[in-house]
Amino acid sequence: TPTRLIRNFCIIAHIDHGKSTLADQFLLKSGAVSQRDIKAQTLDSMDLERERGITIRMHPVTIFFDHKGEKFELNLIDTPGHVDFNYEVSRSLAACEGAILLVDAFQGVQAQTVANGFLAMEAQLKLVPTLNKIDLPHARPEFVIGEMEQAMLVEDPDEVMKVSARAGLGIEELMGAVIDRVPAPSGAPAEPLKALIYNSHFDTYKGVVVYIRMIDGNLKPGQRIKLMRAGREYVVTEMGQFRPEPTKIDELGAGQVGYFTANIKTIDDVGIGDTVTDAFNPTAEPLAGYKEPKPMVYSGLYPVNNNEFEDLREALQKLKLNDSSFSYVPEVSDGLGFGFRCGFLGMLHREIIQQRLERDSELNLVQTAPNVTYEIKKQNGEVVQVHGPQDVPDGGGIDEFREPIVKISFLIPSTNIGGLMTMCTERRGTFVRTEYLSPQRVILVFEMPLAEVIYDLYDKLKSFTHGYGTMDYEVVGYRAADLVRMDILVHGNRVDALSIIVHRSNADRRGRKVLERLRKEISRHMFEVALQAAIGGKIIARETIAAMKKDVTAKCYGGDISRKRKLWNKQAEGKKRMKAIGQVEVPQEAFLAVLEDD
Ligand code: GDP
Ligand code: MG
Repeated sequence: TPTRLIRNFCIIAHIDHGKSTLADQFLLKSGAVSQRDIKAQTLDSMDLERERGITIRMHPVTIFFDHKGEKFELNLIDTPGHVDFNYEVSRSLAACEGAILLVDAFQGVQAQTVANGFLAMEAQLKLVPTLNKIDLPHARPEFVIGEMEQAMLVEDPDEVMKVSARAGLGIEELMGAVIDRVPAPSGAPAEPLKALIYNSHFDTYKGVVVYIRMIDGNLKPGQRIKLMRAGREYVVTEMGQFRPEPTKIDELGAGQVGYFTANIKTIDDVGIGDTVTDAFNPTAEPLAGYKEPKPMVYSGLYPVNNNEFEDLREALQKLKLNDSSFSYVPEVSDGLGFGFRCGFLGMLHREIIQQRLERDSELNLVQTAPNVTYEIKKQNGEVVQVHGPQDVPDGGGIDEFREPIVKISFLIPSTNIGGLMTMCTERRGTFVRTEYLSPQRVILVFEMPLAEVIYDLYDKLKSFTHGYGTMDYEVVGYRAADLVRMDILVHGNRVDALSIIVHRSNADRRGRKVLERLRKEISRHMFEVALQAAIGGKIIARETIAAMKKDVTAKCYGGDISRKRKLWNKQAEGKKRMKAIGQVEVPQEAFLAVLEDD
């Protein structure tokens, strides 16, 4: 296809505004798949994604569409819809010239609409503003278009396209608008090969499948290529496009989007954002690339049975094949034995990885409370990254303890401003600015420690705004704070997996809370169990679990049998995930007791 007939675009939207449904319509209307074949959300191929209705990886799809008497090649790159995966949004933007900015005609502009809309504008993409769900009886197109104007996402209200992805209304018109408004790629076919790697996945038979956006030149099977940043060379074995099934083709030309394979064995050999060029006729300058996504949330993962350590390693290796943003290194804990410290992009990413591990392997796992990445500047001037409480040096020597700070935007009903202010202030947030989208809806921006955001801020926001509040954040840097490591002692033994990093002003309260929770999670033993919280060896809180009476069911007072059975079952279940700390049996739940903070 000549470049003038190519359009590369993505759909950006807040979660649930209909990206996947619209992508399906494109497939349907272009004839790429039939109604019969279309599974719900074809582009979200991973089960977990489908269950959760989020798109994690970008699945490109190439469709052909006749417009004004010519056949156009449209490359659609789906984008993820969750803050954990925001860096993937930037990646897909770099592969496109335009973006459909899709907004739910009832819900209106949301935090991620604004965040991603601005990302797209910064990347100089042509926006095609589009209202979805116009079939809804309570749709309010004029109001929502007003919000889009107010948020500076739309200049001319007449340019806003209106569709119903579910009912299939306005889809051809939208494809026409994409062709008319989004510029064709500007690559030069005669120049040396230059292509951007924007994603990859691992295939057991073919090795790494590399997703590329061609900029200049062309690519053919048998060609010797070079990954410029990695400095590695390979011979291309196969290439193709997703239509939506992987379809082999003989050549990829300037401006096109597709994939290639080249017997690449591990996903780490392929840097996302790297430039592919011809090994014998290389391009002069590599592309700018992107910042590598850094895991921001860490937690320990331990097999309940220590002899399953190698199995866990294998399972993690397998996961890593398809997810280069996930990391793991072995670690040892006094209480939990051998395990791994794992890094995730955010809390949702962490949850997804844990579920995959449990689904794909039969492993019984204990997961420790998550923490963010800290930085410590030692008195000797050295700066170290801290991925867990265990890395905090004992006994002083710390000049500065720094934590990641995010800029976080909330889009909420204006009646909830008071509630939001309170929540953010409690979490050490500082107010940055306010912006009204309409008298009813407002954007508030704060700076806040990431540690205060990751656990339950989103749930809190949803609950006090009755589901109407949305948020989006990005890490803006590190800042020194009065942070300390709080240790927990069970029956006199320090349980390193229970240590947490806290702000000193919260330490007493958190310490008492953790012990209260632990007391509930740990069953009675034949002896009294002491629980203590300590900072630098100084005890700041204490609880005791009284010794038990012989028969655990005795406290049912001979109550009905089903209740007893429930109790027995509960104990049996609990057994699966017990860890022995000294003589004390500690259940999995206890390791998460340090997590919640209310
Ligand atoms: P995504 O998170 O942006 O990918 O959104 P989905 O495509 O998964 O859609 C979210 C929900 O909105 C699903 O329940 C869809 O069936 C529904 N939906 C999508 N488009 C429309 C539409 O045009 N009209 C109506 N009424 N519902 C829609
Ligand atoms: Mg989706």
